[in-house]
Amino acid sequence: MTSKPIGVAVLGLGNVGSEVVRILTENAEDFEARIGAPLEIRGIAVRRVDGDRGVAPELLTDDPAELVGRDDVDIVVEVLGGIDIPRKLVLSALEKGKSVITANKALLAEYTGELADAAEKSRADLYFEAAVAGAIPVVRPLMQSLAGDRVNKVAGIVNGTTNFILSAMDETGADYAETLAEAGRLGYAEADPTADVEGYDAASKAAILASIAFHTRVTAGDVYREGISKITADDLETAKSLDCTIKLLAICERIVTPKGKERISARVYPALVPLNHPLAAVNGAFNAVVVEAEAAGRLMFYGQGAGGAPTASAVLGDLVMAARNKFYGGRGPLESKYAKLKVAPMGDILTRYYVSMQVADKPGVLATVAAEFSKRDVSISTVRQQGSGDGARLVVVTHLAADSALSDTVASLEQLDVVVNVASVLRLEGTTV
Ligand code: NAP
Repeated sequence: MTSKPIGVAVLGLGNVGSEVVRILTENAEDFEARIGAPLEIRGIAVRRVDGDRGVAPELLTDDPAELVGRDDVDIVVEVLGGIDIPRKLVLSALEKGKSVITANKALLAEYTGELADAAEKSRADLYFEAAVAGAIPVVRPLMQSLAGDRVNKVAGIVNGTTNFILSAMDETGADYAETLAEAGRLGYAEADPTADVEGYDAASKAAILASIAFHTRVTAGDVYREGISKITADDLETAKSLDCTIKLLAICERIVTPKGKERISARVYPALVPLNHPLAAVNGAFNAVVVEAEAAGRLMFYGQGAGGAPTASAVLGDLVMAARNKFYGGRGPLESKYAKLKVAPMGDILTRYYVSMQVADKPGVLATVAAEFSKRDVSISTVRQQGSGDGARLVVVTHLAADSALSDTVASLEQLDVVVNVASVLRLEGTTV
């Protein structure tokens, strides 16, 4: 006897939604066998219902609220994008006790708290594996597989567009603007690339990862953020000479302040990464996340961080979990927020800097520059002098110091007569010296 079908509403039929619907339809029998009951798509919400959308036309609706409210819908898959409209739809589904699967990092990075509260109240599931690093399973490993461990750090490359651009700049020597245009032509950058290149997308993912890893609510506004739009071909050239490359990193870390207080840090910025670090080998549009846990040690997750089918894979994994919970009763893990750790300001974080500056070509310059570092207790690891005359350049790499001391040093260097300009400042990650 066939079990009663589980009704699914799919909100969105774009890159991700169309793959979700395709795989669900093509593999319907497998889904039924894995869940114990068949999944039935009750409707698909889109903006444009006319024309051939590659699905049965009677499934299409431009009224997602009506679809979510239908009595025969048990689970809602939200792959619309945006914040305000999906927020209302997801909340309304959860309030009605319907489980929700979403790929929407922008929504979660602002409103996980509100949505998780609604899910808890109605005993519904809220799953979002696809919201971080596309196909790569990282949310469930952090939330479930590592639930018995203590996670100290999660760091990774979680934005494919910026990784594609930085890898291409590294490979070809081309500058940022030219490479961004090429990324757009190849479909790796959107018409408005701001969310990617300025680090907003990575910051949303960092907020989600930090929340899960440290059992604390973290929103996108808590994440320190810098993008890649100021990275130059020269920076990548210098990185190479230091046996490094440049990656846009999302870093979530447990730290202890000088006063012994436990805090967390969540930050996104382009950084020099030594070539022997595993993240340096992650190129093109690929993503990777490195997790450091007390008992497990270092784990690395690598794969496709975006794209219709890879993202649909993560959505469908969540859908199977939520459907099994509906079928057998019970539910997935609740939001874990008991630790309530404070987020430390960027200035308190220990980092290393690489500072490249154009300087006057005369005696005593090095001593004057070095004095600004030592005034703030910043110790220098290496100094390189390059060129001469108008092209004279100093490249300084520091040891670990408080980020505030490092940024104050850079501000004071800019005021020195012997410094023509500070051409570039980057942090150095993946070393602990
Ligand atoms: P997309 O290609 O732009 O598709 C969005 C879909 O939602 C379209 O079918 C659109 O309808 C529909 N839609 C948007 N607003 C609507 C509204 N108000 N009412 C009804 N339908 C509406 O987006 P996507 O790339 O699939 O991304 C979807 C979500 O997944 C986003 O939250 C994104 O951040 C997340 N995500 C995407 C990827 C990826 O690789 N694309 C990876 C990870 C996560 P029309 O087709 O009629 O315009």
